[in-house]
Amino acid sequence: MQATESLIRSVVEQVLSEVGKIPPLKQGYDGRYGIFNDVDEAVSAATEAFEQLSRRPIADRKRAIEHIRRISIDQCVELGTMEMEETNIGRLEHKIEKLKVLGELTPGVEFLKSQVFSGDHGLCVIEHAPFGVIGAITPVTHSLPTITGNAVSMIAGGNTLVVNPHPSGKRVAVEGVRRFNKAIYQDLGIDNLICVIEEPTLDSANALFAHRGIAMICVTGGPAVARAALNSGKRAVVAGPGNPPVVVDETADLKNAARSIIRGASYDNNLLCISEKEVFVVEKVFDRMMDEMERAGAVRLNSREIDRLTQAAITQVGEGAHRHDVAAKELIGKDAAVLAEAAGRSVPKDTELLFGETDEFNPFVPVEQMMPFVPFVRVRDVDEAIEKAKYYEHGFRHTAIIHTTNVTNMTKMGRALDTTLFVKNGPCMSALGLGGEGYISFSIATPTGEGVTSPLTFTRERRCSLIDDLYILGK
Ligand code: NAD
Repeated sequence: MQATESLIRSVVEQVLSEVGKIPPLKQGYDGRYGIFNDVDEAVSAATEAFEQLSRRPIADRKRAIEHIRRISIDQCVELGTMEMEETNIGRLEHKIEKLKVLGELTPGVEFLKSQVFSGDHGLCVIEHAPFGVIGAITPVTHSLPTITGNAVSMIAGGNTLVVNPHPSGKRVAVEGVRRFNKAIYQDLGIDNLICVIEEPTLDSANALFAHRGIAMICVTGGPAVARAALNSGKRAVVAGPGNPPVVVDETADLKNAARSIIRGASYDNNLLCISEKEVFVVEKVFDRMMDEMERAGAVRLNSREIDRLTQAAITQVGEGAHRHDVAAKELIGKDAAVLAEAAGRSVPKDTELLFGETDEFNPFVPVEQMMPFVPFVRVRDVDEAIEKAKYYEHGFRHTAIIHTTNVTNMTKMGRALDTTLFVKNGPCMSALGLGGEGYISFSIATPTGEGVTSPLTFTRERRCSLIDDLYILGK
């Protein structure tokens, strides 16, 4: 009798352990882990994955997202290092931190709160439904972090995605996507929730824009791709370029202003679209502000050094009337010490930020430089500061920052600049929940107006009305 019982137990245990090993039923593109060279194939695989996800409960979306979060957090050092080695721009510690915080703070399915109207005529429920397969274009400045944030938000909304990454960040994009899909497939049996084009080109981006199977596009990048998306004829969420100005008035806490500007403008060597790019300081506190910057650890360049750096760091593109200044690729995202060398100055290797006084016509003011040198412009008063900040923000309506304790000045600037993010008395990233309130995403939709993207950005409203019943408070 005893022998029979233990035999049964061991057979049951063996069967259970074998069941755990049974691979999920294979579908057409299973085992590709989201990696494709052909846009049509990628869209088909993402469509198949969308259909499977649509038949699953919301709890399964949450589980899929948990895998993305876990990998982003647990493997941030390995993947961040991979991104740094491939792109060769920015700072390793921040490449690592970006993956970790996106894993931790990107909002998930909890954002999908339904709205309800109830009354004499019954019940109306407004729910948030997916679009389907979303085409995503991602930048070199945050290749895998943007994919991570997009994937969490889009899958939370019930969508799947096909990503055309920046060619200079494609390897880490592919590796991250492979890891996310593999973990999700092994747990849930759905592969290809996130598809990526292994050899991305402008042609593959355009094929994605034009593809009938793509319900919506989300681009994160500079002016050219923002324009292309807006002209694509598809519903587009466009996270475009910025040139965030900072205003410092005579009432500001200058110590805090200096610390904040250094933290924001040096983060990942100023690659963030929200990073402080030029500073307007009122005459009355200008010299003190410059001293505070030095005290807080930034290195001040003199005008001759700034001229040399400008020669090296700013170049021109375009023809005829379209010719304009841009940041030189060779110096984008490089360390402050590298910029200093180009300026003819030697600074400690761990210097976070260079700065110096320029007039408003120095190209560092209008150009989105994406490197750790910030020009400081002396202005008469806060009105001139706000006027110039507005002019050099170029109407992107992206991000603006003020350091002041005068709420009237805050209000004036907020109204005048009309930006998506407006930060008072902190570094830029506090607007993304890092040291401030709110939540994070690395796709901040500016021209199309969705703001810091969330799962709701990637959903359609659907309304369900029941007439005259289920209003349980009525007669
Ligand atoms: P980029 O514009 O060079 O490239 C972005 C992506 O668009 C890449 O995948 C690139 O291959 C693709 N692309 C470029 N031109 C295209 C075109 N004509 N058609 C189709 N695809 C095209 O930008 P980048 O250097 O990778 O990233 C930096 C830029 O992105 C900055 O301007 C920055 O402000 C912006 N950005 C904005 C946000 C935001 O949330 N608003 C976030 C990150 C970066």
